[in-house]
Formats: sequence, C-alpha cells, structure tokens
Amino acid sequence: MKVAVIGSGITGLSTAHNLAKQGVEVVIFEKKTYLYGASGRNSGGITTMMDRKELIELAKRSIKIYDDIQGEFSFNFLFRKDGYLKVADGFDMGRLEKECRLQRSMGVKVREIDPFEIREIVPGFNPESVDGGFIGEGGVIFPWPVIWGYVEGCRKLGVEIMRNSEVKGFEVENGELKGVKVKDETIKVDFVINASGAWSVLISKLAGVELRNRIIKEEICVIESLKPFIDPYILNISTGVYISQSARGEVVGGVVGREATEPDTSSTLDFLIGYAKGAAEMIPLLKGLSVLRQWAGVYDASPDGLPVVGETELKGFVQANGLGRRGMSLAPAIGEIVAKIVLKGKEYDEFSPSRFQFPERTTEN
Ligand SMILES: Cc1cc2nc3c(=O)[nH]c(=O)nc-3n(C[C@H](O)[C@H](O)[C@H](O)COP(=O)(O)OP(=O)(O)OC[C@H]3O[C@@H](n4cnc5c(N)ncnc54)[C@H](O)[C@@H]3O)c2cc1C
Repeated sequence: MKVAVIGSGITGLSTAHNLAKQGVEVVIFEKKTYLYGASGRNSGGITTMMDRKELIELAKRSIKIYDDIQGEFSFNFLFRKDGYLKVADGFDMGRLEKECRLQRSMGVKVREIDPFEIREIVPGFNPESVDGGFIGEGGVIFPWPVIWGYVEGCRKLGVEIMRNSEVKGFEVENGELKGVKVKDETIKVDFVINASGAWSVLISKLAGVELRNRIIKEEICVIESLKPFIDPYILNISTGVYISQSARGEVVGGVVGREATEPDTSSTLDFLIGYAKGAAEMIPLLKGLSVLRQWAGVYDASPDGLPVVGETELKGFVQANGLGRRGMSLAPAIGEIVAKIVLKGKEYDEFSPSRFQFPERTTEN
C-alpha cells in the first residue's frame, strides 16, 4: 500500500509516522517547507482543558504520545508542564465553570482560582483585569523541535518527505482516487491524506470534495526577555489575549485568531495595538517593552469545532484537518486515528466528514 500525505505540519507528520510504523510506504508532499504552516508559527499551548469530551480524550492521548516519542526521536520538545490558566470576565466565567465540570468528570485536574491567587502564581498579574479563572493540566511545548523530531522519526522509518512539492490535482477513476499530481507528474497512490491545514478546503476542491472548514488567521509576537516569572500558559477567553514565557525569558503572546477569506500571513499594526493593550492590562509590567518579532499563521476550523477525520465520498481521499486552535494539543492522537482508518477501515462517526452532509432538501412539505 502507498499513501500520500499532503502537508508536513504536525498532522501530516504524525499521520505519516503512525502509518510508517506499521510498514506502509508513505510520501509527504509539502508545498513549501516544514515550518511554513501553522505548526511552525503557533504558541505551543498544550492542555486537556477543552470544552468537548472528544477533544479532552484526544488531548490526553496526545500528551502521552509527546512524553513517549521525545525519547524515541532523541529530541527534546522543551515541554514545560507548568499549567494552563484560563481567565475570564463576567458571563464568560460561566462558560469556564461549565467546561470545568466536564473536564473534572473526565479526570482532568483543574481548579478554580481567584484573581489574587493568580497574582501569587504570576507576580505582577493585575487582579482587577479579570473576574477569575481556572488552572489545570498543560503547559507550553516548543513547536519547532516537535516538528524536527517528527521529521527525523519519519525519515528513520523510510518516509519520503518532498519539500517544495505542491500538490496540484488528483487522478480519479470511477469515483476512486488513483494518483496525485505533483510537479507535472502523476504519482500512483492508494490513499491521499489531506493534512494541509488552512489549505484543506482548496485541496478538497481539487479532488471535487466538499469541505466546510473555515480559514482562521492568528497573529502573535515576541517581546524582549525578562527574568522568567510567567509559569503557566495564560489565555484570557474574554479578550482572546494569551501570554506565555519561554525558559529563555522571551514573552510570547498573541490574540486568538479570526476568520479570514484566504490563507494570509501578513502582520498588522492593529494586532500589535490590540495585543499590547490586552497584555499590559493583565500584566502591567509588560508595558513599554519592545517587540522583537511579530508574525502570523493560518489554520482551519470545522463548523462544529471537532476535527474532520475520515474517508470521503471519493474513495481513497481521507480528511485529516479542522483541528482549529488546538492542533498542537490534538494532532499526535489524530495521526493514530488516521492510521486506523487507512489500515483497518475503522470509522469514527464523531469526526467523520460525512457528518456535515445534509439530506437534499425537497420542495414537498
Ligand atoms: C499564531 C498561532 C497560535 C497558535 N497557538 C496554538 C496553541 O497554543 N496550541 C495549539 O494546540 N494550537 C495552536 N495553534 C493552532 C495549531 O498551530 C494548528 O492547529 C496546527 O499547527 C495545524 O497543523 P496542521 O499540520 O494541520 O497544519 P499546518 O501546520 O498548517 O500544515 C499544513 C501544511 O500543508 C502544506 N500545504 C498546503 N497546501 C499544499 C499543497 N497544495 N501541496 C503540498 N502541501 C501543501 C502547507 O505548506 C503546510 O506546511 C496556533 C496557530 C497559530 C497560527
């Protein structure tokens, strides 16, 4: 069996790794290079503090995989499990409380924390900036060694990774996928995995398959280093502002992304203004520090917030996308699921692309 994976982000690499471990011949096509997609541009927040049972299960499994494969790949992912802190204002506290009940019922260690206790954990935190929060399992991973590690792990298992190789179309015969068109060549394969993140809808269109994921653009920046004082990853769900600090002291932060019409990775001044205001309100001592770098990334989100994983109406064309702003927390487990779908024909109804296909409307009523 030969499988083509489109995209060398965390989803494509974890899928390729799981398939190759089971002896499948895998080739990854990447239109640019490894860190080009969202997997090379994100803030590395990892947590099981999710709002859906399915996502909590995937996140738990993914954290276990990260722990196991660092050794296998001989790569240090710099995974600091210093906690994940969600803070909120007003009505949003109710959302967090609801999430927290679900998380606890699934064994996630999470507890409520008041703004003054937050200041004890994060010195300099302004207790007046939020009404409260919840702190639980998670932390920050450095995305680049994760990707480099997976690349090495895949290579050792014989996965061919073709950079600068944009997939431009497919060969289809009688409703069945037969090959991938790359660089004026058609490569015969048995399965194609669409792990192209924000480009997944475009790739699906090339295959004649409908996918309703939205493109989300998110901007982020690094400000100058301070002696480390922010241990947990902090996400303000009311403003969308998030902040974490690397072991080197760099303060990394951004604002949760917004829907975009195309995969656009330009940076804007508007973002910097909004982020500076939100970040300085939460942690006033960040005021006046210089921005070292800013960048943007794009990812895709499904209509119901769950990943889209499974074979489509085009036999051999498998979706592995729609991970939203949680791809780093979910993708290692998604790779295992895709391998089961391809090798065992297993179906996961909760993630199946067919859940968005509604019966055609009739005029009778
Ligand atoms: C600023 C920012 C902050 C984030 N913070 C977090 C966070 O804290 N925690 C978290 O869990 N997630 C976070 N995310 C989301 C996370 O980064 C994504 O969910 C995840 O990286 C998606 O991985 P992927 O492999 O599905 O897609 P990508 O990493 O985007 O990979 C897709 C790849 O497909 C390639 N491709 C596209 N078209 C083609 C083609 N025609 N042929 C070949 N290759 C093609 C692209 O070049 C790209 O490399 C963040 C994202 C951003 C942008």
